[in-house]
Amino acid sequence: MTETIIVIGGGQAAAAFVAKMHELKPASKIVVIGNEPCLPYQRPPLSKKYMTGEMTAERLLLRPPSWYSDTGIECRLGAIATAISPSAKTVTLQDGEVLAYDSLLIATGSHPRSLPAASGGDLDGVYVLRSLADADRIGPELAPGRRMLVVGGGYIGLEAAAVAASRGLEVHVVEMADRILQRVAAPQTSDYFRALHARHGVDIRERAALVRLVGENGRVCGAEFADGERLDIDFVLVGIGVTPNDALAREAGLATDNGISVDLAARTSDPDIYSAGDCASFEFNGRRVRLESVQNAIEQAEAAARTIAGEAVEYRPIPWFWSDQYDVKLQIAGLNAGYDRTVVRPGTREGGQSVWYFSAGRFIAVDAANDPRAYMFGKRLLELGRNVTPEQAADPQCDLKALVQ
Ligand code: ADP
Repeated sequence: MTETIIVIGGGQAAAAFVAKMHELKPASKIVVIGNEPCLPYQRPPLSKKYMTGEMTAERLLLRPPSWYSDTGIECRLGAIATAISPSAKTVTLQDGEVLAYDSLLIATGSHPRSLPAASGGDLDGVYVLRSLADADRIGPELAPGRRMLVVGGGYIGLEAAAVAASRGLEVHVVEMADRILQRVAAPQTSDYFRALHARHGVDIRERAALVRLVGENGRVCGAEFADGERLDIDFVLVGIGVTPNDALAREAGLATDNGISVDLAARTSDPDIYSAGDCASFEFNGRRVRLESVQNAIEQAEAAARTIAGEAVEYRPIPWFWSDQYDVKLQIAGLNAGYDRTVVRPGTREGGQSVWYFSAGRFIAVDAANDPRAYMFGKRLLELGRNVTPEQAADPQCDLKALVQ
């Protein structure tokens, strides 16, 4: 009997999984159930080069269509899985079809949070940015002179703000927390990006409460703030974080905890069901985390494939992330959760700097802005499990290279 392996989801994790699975078990039947109409593609360029039109949709594809036909991997596109039965080992699709699996990967990702309809979140001209279809809707709005409001000063919002400001739009960013990037970075990184955006004419409002978006004939035309100010705008991008798509797993009785709970082998509470990517939560340095990154999608999905192929796997990533804004490339290594001290190291290039994070004296993460050396050596230290002291990290005379040798 041919072994059947099903993946629910058609994103980066699904693509990495099927490639690895096919390599390890070429005789298995592999089926991808993806609700988007297109083959798996890269999402990061959507808020960067794709939005500016510098990259075509075809170049976003992770693999060309021929790869799927050559490998015999079956892609059900535009198909929605509505239920999983762990006891019967089946997946039910919206059209009623029932598919049986031997192993199942849930790689359903996450969906962007949106503003409530009561605050104008359902008006025309209010967008989220997650899918190719979202980016295609926003593209035509990005004309010079138009006024854009970005709600949320996280990486998605700031990247979109940078693209729009570079194209000559008038850009406003509203962040309800004390500072932009508060959830993900130290104050020094927030300061760096606030100053960068200010140089490009972006109006950033922190500790600012958006009361509601105002519409005219069903289309957004303004925003009202708690301090009474009213701003005229042409469109809005909402970048206020994502929620893991774990409902299918929950309804199937699988354990969830801020996402689908998996162990270090990417296995859920059911021995034949695995999960990877944005939707999965796992233990990392003593806390349960979800990593919203390309690296995690790929490596955790590959870990699931290797487990299914019978390898003993322990997925312990050295997380890394990046963000592009204007001419700044931010590279992040490690996870700063629980940091109690940070130091700044000046970069070797003009305008470069890195922020080093420590927890109880242990180096845990680095944010390197236009400073690839700091990123490289920081990442290497984490990989080697070697420490650096805050004093060494902050001292531009301290040779980082020597520390990793
Ligand atoms: P993303 O991946 O979408 O950038 P983050 O969670 O990293 O997600 O960033 C979202 C930001 O949006 C956070 O800084 C958060 O404080 C902010 N935010 C959330 N809700 C609102 C809101 N209603 N108005 C303004 N900012 C918000």
